[in-house]
Amino acid sequence: MRPVSYARATEVAGAVAAVSADPESAFLAGGTTEIDLLRLNVRQPSRLVDINALPLTRVEDLPDGGLRIGALARMSDVAEAPGVVQRFPVIAQALVLGASAQLRHMASMGGNLLQAVRCSYFRDPRAACNKREPGSGCAALDGINRGHAILGTSRHCIATHPSDVAVALVALDAVVHTQGPGGGRAIGIDDFFLLPGDTPHLEHPLEHGELIVGIEVPAVPLARTSLYLKVRDRESYEFALASVAVALRVDDGAVGEVRLALGGVATKPWRARRAEQLLVGEPATGESFARAAGEELAPAVPQTMNAFKVELARRAMVRALEMATVVGGAP
Ligand code: SF4
Repeated sequence: MRPVSYARATEVAGAVAAVSADPESAFLAGGTTEIDLLRLNVRQPSRLVDINALPLTRVEDLPDGGLRIGALARMSDVAEAPGVVQRFPVIAQALVLGASAQLRHMASMGGNLLQAVRCSYFRDPRAACNKREPGSGCAALDGINRGHAILGTSRHCIATHPSDVAVALVALDAVVHTQGPGGGRAIGIDDFFLLPGDTPHLEHPLEHGELIVGIEVPAVPLARTSLYLKVRDRESYEFALASVAVALRVDDGAVGEVRLALGGVATKPWRARRAEQLLVGEPATGESFARAAGEELAPAVPQTMNAFKVELARRAMVRALEMATVVGGAP
């Protein structure tokens, strides 16, 4: 591991100035991913700026029914906040299912959005990986790709986005607030995650030195009965093979409003807009749900080992919609 110098920031402007002035420096928050990547020599900053003392830890209920989550709020604090549990259960459930209790106490919300892919080739400096080393190739295409993506892939990268809570936030149209050398900006969360395309090393639209300071979740009344369904190989501490964030309102037996997003199957948290469009006005039945899920997954491009994910995701979507129909007050 390369020697790394360390500094501690106490205010946002100082942290941004310190990192943006030095191309070889990086922010350090919870450290649950970053330290592993340093040890593996996947990332090699010469300087870490510790941001844990910044005043970005609050979870606030907004007057209009929305939510503002500080970037340094710990996953556990957000999962247990009454306003989250009562008004946005899909966020609380995704956080609880997203990591062990120990990791939830350490990991920050901003860091969660920025966590690195779990592709084993990305973490092996001897393997070809366009995300780690642009132009070197993608070992996963002909390698072990059972856990990789079937949606949003390119010939340059097929890694699955690893976050659970990001899937819930995408379903709810959250906004990521940042502070950078050029000032602050607000980025719709669907635009915050980039598809790999020809540039898989670019995962976010952040400049060097630009810091996530908060996540805003708008008021979404139907989110009160939202839920998160996660399918994985074992019940604890495992990434999703397929997951679904859903919020649904049923009016007289038909879908009145629906939010739907997928995890574990795509290169970014995947808003299932095609399925949403098809569902509104349709009977809230398993047949309608299966048809919409099938349409959403029609563009899927399976790899050698993960064709099973197409059917798994379809069934997970139907199951999640049926569960949401029950808690959402259907007949
Ligand atoms: Fe690298 Fe992406 Fe290929 Fe994995 S899937 S080896 S992260 S380029």
